[in-house]
Amino acid sequence: MKQLIDYINEAKEGGYGLGHFNFSDLETLRGIMAGFEEVQNAVSKEIALIVGLSEGERAAVGLRQAVCLIQSYREAGVPVFLNADHTKSLENAKEAAEAGFDAVLFDAGREPLDENIGHTREAVKVIREINPKIIIEGELGFLGEGSEIRTSLPEGVGASLKNLTAPEEVARFAAETGVDLIAPAVGNIHGVITDNAGAFQNPPLDVDRIKRIKEAVNSALVLHGGSGIKDEELRAAVVAGAAVVHISTELRMAWRRGLDSSLAANPGEIAPYKLLAASAEAVRLVVSEKLKLLNSVLY
Ligand SMILES: [Zn+2]
Repeated sequence: MKQLIDYINEAKEGGYGLGHFNFSDLETLRGIMAGFEEVQNAVSKEIALIVGLSEGERAAVGLRQAVCLIQSYREAGVPVFLNADHTKSLENAKEAAEAGFDAVLFDAGREPLDENIGHTREAVKVIREINPKIIIEGELGFLGEGSEIRTSLPEGVGASLKNLTAPEEVARFAAETGVDLIAPAVGNIHGVITDNAGAFQNPPLDVDRIKRIKEAVNSALVLHGGSGIKDEELRAAVVAGAAVVHISTELRMAWRRGLDSSLAANPGEIAPYKLLAASAEAVRLVVSEKLKLLNSVLY
C-alpha cells in the first residue's frame, strides 16, 4: 500500500489537493467517507483521504478508538489516514504517535519563530523515535483557534494577517525542524466569518504567496481554515501549491443543519441513528463539493 507521503507528493506535483476533514462522531465520519468515495470514483487518479482530530475531538472519540476505526476502513481498501490535528503539547503528540496515528501536527504556531523552531525540532525528534515513518507537520503564524462561526476575525489574528508567513521564514523553518509538511499563514483563518445574512466574509487568500512559498521549500504545504473560502480561491490555492486542505467548520455547520432539519421533521423520534442520518448526508454533500474543487485538475 502506498504511504501518505506518496499521495501528498503526487498531489504537490500534480497541482491538486488532498482533503483533510475533522470528525468527532460516527455520522460525520460516515458522511466524510461517502463524499470521498463519490469523488474517488470520479477522478482520473487514486487520491487519499486524511481525517483529523483536534485535541478536544481526540478526547471525545478516544485515540485507540479513532485508530481502530480508520484501520477498519483501510482494511476495506480505502486509502484513508489519521492525523492528530493541532497538537499543542509534546505529551499529547507522543500519545498520538504511540496510539498509531499516521500523522501529527505539532502546533507551536503561536510562538515567535525561534521558539517555534526549537519546540518543533524537539517534537520531530521525539515523535520519530516512536514511529520513524510518521508524517510531521509544523505551523507558522497564528490562524486563531476553534472551528467556529464568527462575526469578526478571531482574537489575536489581526496582526498575523498584516504579517503573513514569508517564504524565507518557511525555508528556514523547514531546514531547521525537518518537518514533512508546513502550514503557513497566507490569509487563512480558523473558523468562518459570516455577515447578517449568513454569507461568508473570510479574508482573501494570498495565492501568490502560496506559490512563492512552494518554490522556496521542498516540504509540502497545508492550507488550514479551508472553510468559508470562495470556490475559485480554493481552486487557485491548490494549483499554487497547497497539497492538503483542512476543512472542519463547514462540516460542523452541515452536521448541525442536518440535525436541526431532522428534529423539526421528526419531533417524536428518539433513535439517534435515524435522527443523525440527515447530518451524515449534509456532511457528505459538503465533502464531495470541496473535494471536487480540490481535485478539479483530475476531472
Ligand atoms: Zn487547523
